[in-house]
Amino acid sequence: MERKDVNLNNVSPMMREYLKTKSEYEGIILFYRLGDFYEMFFEDAITASHELELTLTGKQAGLKEKIPMCGVPYHAVNIYLEKLIEKGYKVAICEQMEDPKLAKGIVKREVTQIVSAGTITNTDIVNEKDFNFIAGIKDYTYAYVLSYADLLSGKVYATYINHDDENLISQIVNLNIKEIVVEDNFNEKLIYKFKTNYNIYISYYNEDKVFDKNNVFDGIEDEKIIKTTSIVLNYLVNAMKQDLSHLQHLEIVDKKMFLELNKECIRNLELTETMRNKDRQNSLLGFMDKTKTAMGSRLLKSYIISPSIDKKEITKRHDLVEKLIKEFMLKSELKSYLYEIYDLERLTGKVACSTLNARDMLQLKNSLTVFPDINNILAELNLEPLETFDKLCDLIERSIKENSPVTLKEGNLIKEGFNAEIDELRSIKTNGKDFISNFESEERQRTNIKGLKVGFNKVFGYFIEVPKGQIMYVKDEFQYERKQTLSNCERYITPLLKEKENMILNAEDKLNNLEYEVFCEIKEEIKKYISNLQVVSGKIAYLDVMQSFATIAEENNFIKPTINDNNIVEIIGGRHPVVESVIEKEYIDNDVILNKNTNVLIITGPNMSGKSTYMREMGIIAILNQIGSFVPAKKCNIPIFDKIFTRIGASDDLVGGESTFMVEMKESAYALKNATHNSLILFDELGRGTSTYDGMSLAGAIIEYIATNIKCKTLFSTHYHELIAMENKLSGVKNVHVTIAEEGGDITFLHKVLDGAVDKSYGINVAKLANLPNTVIKRANELLEEFENQNNKVERKAQQLELIFDEDTKDELREYIDTINPLEVTPIEAINILDQIKKKSLL
Ligand code: ADP
Repeated sequence: MERKDVNLNNVSPMMREYLKTKSEYEGIILFYRLGDFYEMFFEDAITASHELELTLTGKQAGLKEKIPMCGVPYHAVNIYLEKLIEKGYKVAICEQMEDPKLAKGIVKREVTQIVSAGTITNTDIVNEKDFNFIAGIKDYTYAYVLSYADLLSGKVYATYINHDDENLISQIVNLNIKEIVVEDNFNEKLIYKFKTNYNIYISYYNEDKVFDKNNVFDGIEDEKIIKTTSIVLNYLVNAMKQDLSHLQHLEIVDKKMFLELNKECIRNLELTETMRNKDRQNSLLGFMDKTKTAMGSRLLKSYIISPSIDKKEITKRHDLVEKLIKEFMLKSELKSYLYEIYDLERLTGKVACSTLNARDMLQLKNSLTVFPDINNILAELNLEPLETFDKLCDLIERSIKENSPVTLKEGNLIKEGFNAEIDELRSIKTNGKDFISNFESEERQRTNIKGLKVGFNKVFGYFIEVPKGQIMYVKDEFQYERKQTLSNCERYITPLLKEKENMILNAEDKLNNLEYEVFCEIKEEIKKYISNLQVVSGKIAYLDVMQSFATIAEENNFIKPTINDNNIVEIIGGRHPVVESVIEKEYIDNDVILNKNTNVLIITGPNMSGKSTYMREMGIIAILNQIGSFVPAKKCNIPIFDKIFTRIGASDDLVGGESTFMVEMKESAYALKNATHNSLILFDELGRGTSTYDGMSLAGAIIEYIATNIKCKTLFSTHYHELIAMENKLSGVKNVHVTIAEEGGDITFLHKVLDGAVDKSYGINVAKLANLPNTVIKRANELLEEFENQNNKVERKAQQLELIFDEDTKDELREYIDTINPLEVTPIEAINILDQIKKKSLL
């Protein structure tokens, strides 16, 4: 039975309420709280039972036919939510707003949150090492505005992006944005791409209203930024059904203040995940992450995808890292204190989203109590102290019980001595319970029934249980009233037992409600500290990243780089830190020397010799320098780059329907168009996706263009040995090669990069290393010889043709050609001229 076929007049009152609520949440799965379950009905039940592998049942809701229904237990709701969100659904949670026991008529229910990829606040589900950004986009025809917020930390950013879809997509992918909110009229093609190629959830929101809460826009006048940011913030408030008082002041990100890395560069250099397995561990981020806090880990990621170009900021970080390396005792103490700090940023978010429980409060307190110790270290390092939160710590310390449960309405949250009324109710409850335990032994004695027990269940409350074999001893004078007969026993109640039960349960109910109330008051008090807690979270994250840099530098022999303004690259003994950490053999370090006038290095060497690694190493050292880290080298003098472009390794855009070659050309075009004198280009075997001559010509033309027009630092590896001649033709171009040792057809990779070029590919030798069958290798060598001979023949023919013309013919031709002015001939004349030349040359 479908929802649209239901006549509202015929259904049960509960179902009528359900249908009313559901009509406000079309296209969203509605979790409808009924007692201990969230139930789903109609199409939601069918979808959820399928996606979550739940049993689909039916509910008699006043109609002849049962309606489809399925449910999930409320205490396990997170597991199911996570699955549905992952599969691209949105869920509205409808809660009971009053105690069903006390409700008159239908229990009041309300949707309390709409959960989607960008609005999850459950910290068990959200990856602690990454932000969970939700974005709003508006198209201003000459540019896009992208606003993005992280609900848990309350961070809000906005930036302009030039009107280039690829650029926009790059930003979105780099920031790992999970959900995008747009207005109805947004570009459908782009929406389709976001959804299908990048698995991003799209939400529509059309409220044209400026978001006016918590000073998010204080001092900001840019209307386009305000409008776009308002879309996403209004959407969030609507989804969370809360004010979100923790949203921070909007930070406008000026892209020009950061090293520009597009998504290809981030992927090719394996900055945040590896290309093959997409794992974080073996990426640069995974390698560099020795942070102790989740906040530090997230800041590190944002540094790596957006390194700085501000020399002052970079140098400040280098200096602090140096200080921390020197003061290794202080650093190790600092690390141990940082380790004690929970995710303050997200705890603060939970306060604002009202999802904070008592355990979270204790985590908050435990985190804050190490601040004075951290301040002692900061004082020794001559750094500004952190604000300490003594009053807040004291409040939580006095009020919240250790080992309190995660639930908030079942009591056991508030410490003894904090609230007199709570203490009193607790004593009534305990006395009552004591009474019950004494009652059992007293009754046993009084009645002489040995098997008599006192039990409790939710339906009957407290009862006296007598085994079947002993019920004959139950006498009238005991005043036992039979309540339930089971196969092996009888259950009774007595007036006294009921009286005590009333007292206990009343006290318990009251106690639980009061504890919850007091807990909420404490939460309100914490709310006052939100913005200060956010500031301090940022400082902790920064300190943590700096200690992580210092730790990495020590453990891996990194050195402090020097920054120059002369466009000189002088890396001596550089290494690729991640490759070095995973290979079993020794890593061979290499130099990259590019003086003021040398811009392009053409790198030759067989496959597998280490060309890409050498280029990646250059990119990674540049990035490490600009995030403020030390670098893996013996010496490093390097400029600040404004953009890095890469084309490394083959990557098809199969989803986008483009071939390797097309993607390669697009990426190259993007680099050539956008690179400046201060950029870094890393091109690995550009042009190999097409025929040899095409590829070679394109590669040559691109090198020429970079060397003569852009003049930026470029590493260009190639198989086309013909390109090495460019060193002599173009200024600023230099050849280097990766060395190998050859002996009897067998080669060994030495991985050392030296000046000059190699003019042999060693393809067959490398294939031999890959254990291609001997017969194939032998045949390949024969064919190679044949091809080389044929080439020689073609060359000889050309030489012979030269000889055919005697000197007279040549003179005659020259004279004739001198008479032609190409600018004045018509196409027909040109054909005649060609004919004449042909005739004269064949004389
Ligand atoms: P190419 O780009 O020339 O085909 P790669 O850069 O992909 O070669 O390197 C191939 C392998 O050689 C790497 O996976 C790594 O194991 C090893 N390698 C590369 N450079 C070095 C080096 N400097 N020292 C040690 N091993 C290296």
